[in-house]
Amino acid sequence: MHVEEIADDGSVRATQDLPFAFSMMLPAFRGVAAVRGIEGLTNPRGFIIIDKHQRNPTFPNVFALGVCVAIAPTGKTPVPVGVPKTGFMIESMVTAIAKNLGQIIEGKPTTNEATWNAFCLADFGDGGVAFVAQPQIPPRNVNWSASGKWVHLAKAGFEKYFLGKIKRGESEPFYEKLALDVMGLKKIKG
Ligand SMILES: Cc1cc2nc3c(=O)[nH]c(=O)nc-3n(C[C@H](O)[C@H](O)[C@H](O)COP(=O)(O)OP(=O)(O)OC[C@H]3O[C@@H](n4cnc5c(N)ncnc54)[C@H](O)[C@@H]3O)c2cc1C
Repeated sequence: MHVEEIADDGSVRATQDLPFAFSMMLPAFRGVAAVRGIEGLTNPRGFIIIDKHQRNPTFPNVFALGVCVAIAPTGKTPVPVGVPKTGFMIESMVTAIAKNLGQIIEGKPTTNEATWNAFCLADFGDGGVAFVAQPQIPPRNVNWSASGKWVHLAKAGFEKYFLGKIKRGESEPFYEKLALDVMGLKKIKG
């Protein structure tokens, strides 16, 4: 694999060749063809434009959450990069949407804003990194990370727990909400 390291001015600062056997590369994300290019719905990369209530301003019957939403870059970079989106952050988006839809049905104005907090166990196979970023997009109030084999084990355990609760039809059991509250990890602002 031939890798070019780009300097701040866009020039090539260094190149290196890495062994390529079982490797993974993530290309830049873009929105799916079904929505790309619809004026007012998506940005030029095909991500859905939303307001602070996760709602599209042009098509108010459209709400969006997850990796498909348009998030403005946090700063200037020599090559365009996306903003990371992770599971807990996405759960906060869907919680805000569900609560806002409830308000719409009751004829009230929407008030719920997702925190976009990140709480992540990233598994690297034999180890991993756990991190909390509140909110995920800087400037942050909380920035914490730790690594080790325990993250891999925690992720394997979490997967079993997560699939189990979803199979039971319970998205957020009270003990999970309690544990997250104790850690100060909220899904809705305020
Ligand atoms: C390699 C990798 C590792 C990651 N690790 C972590 C992690 O450890 N922790 C964490 O929190 N997050 C992690 N993430 C991020 C997280 O997985 C994603 O942010 C999350 O899965 C996005 O969920 P989503 O529902 O928005 O989108 P997706 O999970 O991508 O779901 C979108 C779905 O829409 C379907 N679809 C697409 N086009 C159409 C169409 N035209 N019609 C109908 N259906 C369509 C797709 O098939 C897909 O099933 C990781 C991401 C990657 C790529």
